[in-house]
Amino acid sequence: MSIDLEIARAATLAPITRIAAAAGIPEEALEPYGKFKAKVGLDFVGRVRAERPLGKLVLVTGINPTPAGEGKSTTTVGLGDALNHIGQRAMICLREPSLGPCFGVKGGATGGGHAQVVPMEDINLHFTGDFHAITAANNLLAAMLDNHIYWGNALGIDARRITWRRALDMNDRALRSVVGSLGGTANGFPREDGFDIVVASEVMAAFCLAHDLDDLQQRLGRIIVAQTREGKSVTAADLKADGAMAVLLRDAFAPNLVQTLAGSPALVHGGPFANIAHGCNSVVATKLGLHLADVVVTEAGFGADLGAEKFLDIKCRLAGLAPDACVVVATVRALKMHGGVAKSALGHEDVPAVKRGVVNLARHVENMRKFGLPPVVALNRFNGDTAAEIQAVQEAMSALGVEAILCTHWADGAAGAVKLAEAVMRRIAAGEARFTPLYPDDMPLADKIGTIAREIYRAREVAIPDAVRAKLARFEAQGFRQVPVCIAKTQYSFSADPTALGAPEGHVLPVRDVRLSAGAGFVVAICGDVMTMPGLPRVPAAESIRLDAEGRIEGLF
Ligand code: ADP
Repeated sequence: MSIDLEIARAATLAPITRIAAAAGIPEEALEPYGKFKAKVGLDFVGRVRAERPLGKLVLVTGINPTPAGEGKSTTTVGLGDALNHIGQRAMICLREPSLGPCFGVKGGATGGGHAQVVPMEDINLHFTGDFHAITAANNLLAAMLDNHIYWGNALGIDARRITWRRALDMNDRALRSVVGSLGGTANGFPREDGFDIVVASEVMAAFCLAHDLDDLQQRLGRIIVAQTREGKSVTAADLKADGAMAVLLRDAFAPNLVQTLAGSPALVHGGPFANIAHGCNSVVATKLGLHLADVVVTEAGFGADLGAEKFLDIKCRLAGLAPDACVVVATVRALKMHGGVAKSALGHEDVPAVKRGVVNLARHVENMRKFGLPPVVALNRFNGDTAAEIQAVQEAMSALGVEAILCTHWADGAAGAVKLAEAVMRRIAAGEARFTPLYPDDMPLADKIGTIAREIYRAREVAIPDAVRAKLARFEAQGFRQVPVCIAKTQYSFSADPTALGAPEGHVLPVRDVRLSAGAGFVVAICGDVMTMPGLPRVPAAESIRLDAEGRIEGLF
């Protein structure tokens, strides 16, 4: 059994009603899903918005991920627990994990060690059914689209220009490209189609950015599914699918409350991809947390170049949120990999490699300052990190005027992140945050892409082919000049080359294609291979997952 699961199983959980009461959520506002999970009713969500002021918002982000592991979720949970430990009223907001990947490569997304949200098996699998609801809404739209064509195609949809795909929460490469409607005239008009994993559905992104149910219904209506022969966009509202989709999502839209191993309240809700979407939990959960707690700790996916940039330029901009501090998570091991060390050689002390690799962390720290946020570095301690290596990171950060706090929450729970919590509270108390998005709304889309590339990725230039520029011009003419851009590129490097670790500069960002996610409310710039339906590895984790004699899950994590 994995150590994460072993620790999670050994914990005694409090009834969710008790966690809720301590967080200021009365029992009548709860919709329990068993004893340890509950949805928080939307009536209550609306009421607290009107009645209670906002707490402070802390973003947890990280360096560019490496196979050595960084521990952003673990640190988000550890920091939330530590804030409660030092007497703050803190709440944690996290993404819901996708089910499919749990059966591919082992590993959940609920933190680790003594800093986890629980019940972790439930959260990683079906949880409260939100992803199933999103799957259903996505596929209802697909079914109504093909049905519309079947019954005469009054909207004049060009079947060759359908962009809406079906969705499934499973890693299944066989469904990436399929031909549907085979088998005769009764089954419709055969056409090329495909499936995306649910987290890549635009329904997921719209769900996570919607302010309330009415806003959700409107966003769903704006989703573009196809073009007509004349090149006019056809939307979900044109197909009259938006209302029924919103109905399918109504219950899912209420945020999910769970607890950490230390009994801190955690809202785990929504989980969009961090490449073709913005990669953070729902706006409705973050706002609920902010109205209930003094401090909300939340996480953005991938490294800060993608995750934090999108959290700030997309989510915070669209939801009117302004973070008060940010934590950049790093590990000595990962910095050594950025300094050129192979994963197999991470067991040896290598201070020069840490010094070479720390440039990755330094740049993320500088970038956070560009958004007006005061950063604190969390150095997530792994067994085997040496004092000299840790000191090398702390010296490099102190030269930048940044505190780098050594944290042991994975091993020690809340107590291991108390110093981090205190450092974060010092930054908040100093009132230094002056959050400003990187670019104004009213900037041409191509310039927005260029600004992110130069300022955050430190690219020399952006290569946008003429055909892609023409598409951007079309989006602007359609009224979408004001929306933010969402860059889909590798998470492993500041550049578009996943092997360029450290802090590459002077590179060219190639924009291969752009897509309008009108329902979510952003334009996606595709800068590299983007996989929206993963596959399973040669030996999938599923092969060793089973139920034991007591009906408990074995081998999942
Ligand atoms: P991220 O959010 O950056 O993807 P997670 O927080 O999900 O990373 O952690 C990934 C895995 O690494 C988890 O299994 C977790 O238990 C493990 N992990 C995190 N921090 C540590 C640590 N300090 N020591 C050992 N394992 C750790």
